[in-house]
Amino acid sequence: MATGTLTIDLDAIRGNWRALAGMARAETAAVVKADAYGLGLGQVAPALAAEGARSFFVAVAEEGAELRQILGPGPAIHVFSGHMAGDTRLIAENGLVPMINSIDQMIRHVEALPGHPFGLQLDSGMNRLGMEPGEWSAVREIALTQAPVLAMSHLACADEPDHDMNARQLAAFAEMTAGLEIPRCLANTGGVLLGPDYHFEMTRPGIGLYGGLPYVDARPVVALDLPVIQCRNLAAGETVGYGCDFTADRPMRLATVSAGYADGVIRAMGPRTDLFAGETRCPMRGRISMDLIVADISALEEDPDSLELLGRHQSIDTLADNAGTIGYEILTALGDRYVRRYRGG
Ligand SMILES: *Cc1c(COP(=O)(O)O)cnc(C)c1O
Repeated sequence: MATGTLTIDLDAIRGNWRALAGMARAETAAVVKADAYGLGLGQVAPALAAEGARSFFVAVAEEGAELRQILGPGPAIHVFSGHMAGDTRLIAENGLVPMINSIDQMIRHVEALPGHPFGLQLDSGMNRLGMEPGEWSAVREIALTQAPVLAMSHLACADEPDHDMNARQLAAFAEMTAGLEIPRCLANTGGVLLGPDYHFEMTRPGIGLYGGLPYVDARPVVALDLPVIQCRNLAAGETVGYGCDFTADRPMRLATVSAGYADGVIRAMGPRTDLFAGETRCPMRGRISMDLIVADISALEEDPDSLELLGRHQSIDTLADNAGTIGYEILTALGDRYVRRYRGG
């Protein structure tokens, strides 16, 4: 078998949720969009529900329908994209709560599903989703007669605690929701870490559950081991891989492992990224190809059966730094070809 093994620690996800929940006096929901950040909705969501999560957030109604099948009746499932044309049946049949983003969505919702629960998504400055202050004040009275169940907004810079945008969005959200007698929800992971002013009645962490920054104290959740397909000796002067990018300056021993950019190992991370055999670093040599990576195993006494890309020595955020991106993108890019093993749950 030549596929890598991705190990996902469900107990660590539960522990991270518990710890983030412990930081706020509010209800703690869980964001499980994009297949629980690529880690498997069918395993992650039940683990979070077992730990006590009662409210979930997804990006689109289709994800909400899948989540309802997994969790059964009971937990609240909120949809960030709101009520789109064509969503009505999915929302109704699966008891989803669309987070209404615009006057058009509000009209669509109350016409198609009068009396069906919905939430309000307000734009406090990110300019991505949600009703702007002017729009909101125009529909506020009418919207409130329809009994929304939650008001939310999203922080643009929560992972930068010193950014003045945080306080400005907090003030805008507080102003827009003043006098509302429904739960309010502003904080993602970074917002939870900003402190109690940001927690309101509900928080909704995502990345922190999955072991990523900005939650520095998160328990790591993923490990990735890649099987070695072949080992060889290289003489000084020989080159490795496409474009002959790497030239050996001395004799060395190389291992070729099974994974590449088609599995989410972004090409740009190659020059700065190592594989690990136990404690020993084995630097990548030459370019990352679609399905293969070559690493320098000269420091090892014996040829290894597999090398570790993610684990105790290297986190999703290290890989993200090496590739010039964020841990979120590393997680959601983890490929379908890996065998997935779940621990705990
Ligand atoms: C993805 C997302 C979250 C979760 O954010 P994290 O930074 O992963 O904690 C919360 N709210 C909205 C609107 C989102 O899109």
